[in-house]
Amino acid sequence: MGTENQNNRSSALTPEILALINASISAAVKEAIAGTGTMVSEALREANKPYVDEAKTRRELREKMKFKQEEADNAKTQRMAKEACSHHYKNGLLAVALVNNFHDRQTRGICMRCHEWFYPREWRIDNPTEENPRGTPHIVDAHPKYHLVVEAAAQQQE
Ligand SMILES: [Zn+2]
Repeated sequence: MGTENQNNRSSALTPEILALINASISAAVKEAIAGTGTMVSEALREANKPYVDEAKTRRELREKMKFKQEEADNAKTQRMAKEACSHHYKNGLLAVALVNNFHDRQTRGICMRCHEWFYPREWRIDNPTEENPRGTPHIVDAHPKYHLVVEAAAQQQE
């Protein structure tokens, strides 16, 4: 029994020394966890950064520019077709269809051959800007060939 007590070294540790050991261990553990936490969060932030493939970015930019060019070409072709269109069918009849369901009750027309839109003098609202989030309304003069709509309306009443 006497030797047992001699071999048990914990009996040599006073409560003060035990408290000191506990405090330093918990401080060391806290420090280690805090350090790991920072490393983990940095690693996560790094891992979550989107991967940027430069070749892909360049290709997308090329495709976007090509698309924009095609869009501009199409718009130009359409514009030329509309300018060349007589807005009449080959048999001489007016190719303008009337559109009546507008809030201002004014009649619009659309050419059934080139899809040109004939509008009367009307209110329009610009795209919203930072200064004018609701857009600025303004009056636009009638389409130069709006008389075709008047003509088509008159023909319908005959
Ligand atoms: Zn037309």
